[in-house]
Amino acid sequence: MADQSPDPVRASLHGLCPRCGAKTLYDGLLKFAGTCRNCGLDLSTFNVDDGPAAFLTTIVGTFLVIGVLVLEATVGPPFWVHVVLWVPLTTAVVVGSLRIAKAALLFFEYKNAAREGRIVDEDRP
Ligand SMILES: [Zn+2]
Repeated sequence: MADQSPDPVRASLHGLCPRCGAKTLYDGLLKFAGTCRNCGLDLSTFNVDDGPAAFLTTIVGTFLVIGVLVLEATVGPPFWVHVVLWVPLTTAVVVGSLRIAKAALLFFEYKNAAREGRIVDEDRP
């Protein structure tokens, strides 16, 4: 059987299952499906959690605040323009980047068989 696993960029951008490449990774906007509907891979065993959230919040927040400051300094629009512009843009960028980052982390967890660390008892064979 040929390897059907997608490359990491495609898997991350399109929410593809790391084993079969089907677009079955998400069951909702940011929630992983329990299992892949195509190949049955148990996605609940992967522990991505909110790891990328703090990292992305820092990066996205930095760029958006720079955008707010540049707009205010150059154009100086009324406050409602900032609200109408930045609130939806921030939401879209955060959700979009979280989907990509979570899919990438799950892909690499699967490919590298990454699991929680365990203390090995060296006295036992
Ligand atoms: Zn699959």
